Amino acid sequence: MRGSWQKQFAESPGVLKSAERAQTTVQVLNLEIGGGEFITMAGPCSVETEFQLMATANHVRRCGARLLRGGAFKPRSSPYSFQGHGVDGLKMLARARKESGLAIVTEVMSECDVPVVAEFADVLQIGTRNMENYALLEAAALSGRPILLKRGMMATVADLLRSAQVILDHGNPNVILCERGIRTFETATRNTFDVAAIPLLKHVSHLPVIADPSHAAGYRELVPALARIAVVAGADGLLVEVHPNPDKAWSDGEQSLDFADFEEMMTSLDPYIALREPTTKDDPVTNSLEAVG
Ligand code: PEP
Ligand code: MN
Repeated sequence: MRGSWQKQFAESPGVLKSAERAQTTVQVLNLEIGGGEFITMAGPCSVETEFQLMATANHVRRCGARLLRGGAFKPRSSPYSFQGHGVDGLKMLARARKESGLAIVTEVMSECDVPVVAEFADVLQIGTRNMENYALLEAAALSGRPILLKRGMMATVADLLRSAQVILDHGNPNVILCERGIRTFETATRNTFDVAAIPLLKHVSHLPVIADPSHAAGYRELVPALARIAVVAGADGLLVEVHPNPDKAWSDGEQSLDFADFEEMMTSLDPYIALREPTTKDDPVTNSLEAVG
């Protein structure tokens, strides 16, 4: 690894690749994230109703998703927007897991909620606004559940790796990193998808890396293209928002795919996933150099 990266990431030695550890695979039920299979996590931004969640779970599973996402505790920009169903939402997610067989990933916003969220969820999501909430990182780590750590919207790659290091330091090696876009001067998209962060993270860290094209784009028209870019960039998976009727969604409808668009996007990913499969476990930076001779 370059000396300049070694210097930048020196505070996170445990997340960096080493002779002993080239790739971490995170086990979730019968799945391995970072183990070669491209893993899509999909579902609504917020858990709204039993019907909405079940219909979405069944649809995304049929299209090849392996985890169901859905927020029960929602970090909303406005205090007057729907804040999530809380524990009732977790119970709906657990019923959806039972019916669909999909593992559940859902956000936890406060260390006080970690025990209850960990009781129902298979993966704890730490959102962009909480990436540097160390009390939460510590409590989530101690729960023993795998953690999906989203990049802070104003965080550097070094900041993200430092937060991952905090989780590892509290005895939990099962961290999945997520690039979800960062704030820049560009306002036409909701965030700026930092696509370079994906091969960089794959190059320097042994942790699995996924991308969230929904929050990066903010607009559903852009989501499939960003998803394909994430595959080609070497991501181990995706987190995508899907809703039966996005225009009526209680949160993030503008960036949510409807069922037909999700199905089409999943089909469109296949050739790109097939291209990367033989080299998944290797280093994407090296691979792309080798590909051009
Ligand atoms: C979400 O996944 O719905 C979410 C709130 O994500 P982020 O923390 O990336 O904004
Ligand atoms: Mn959302």
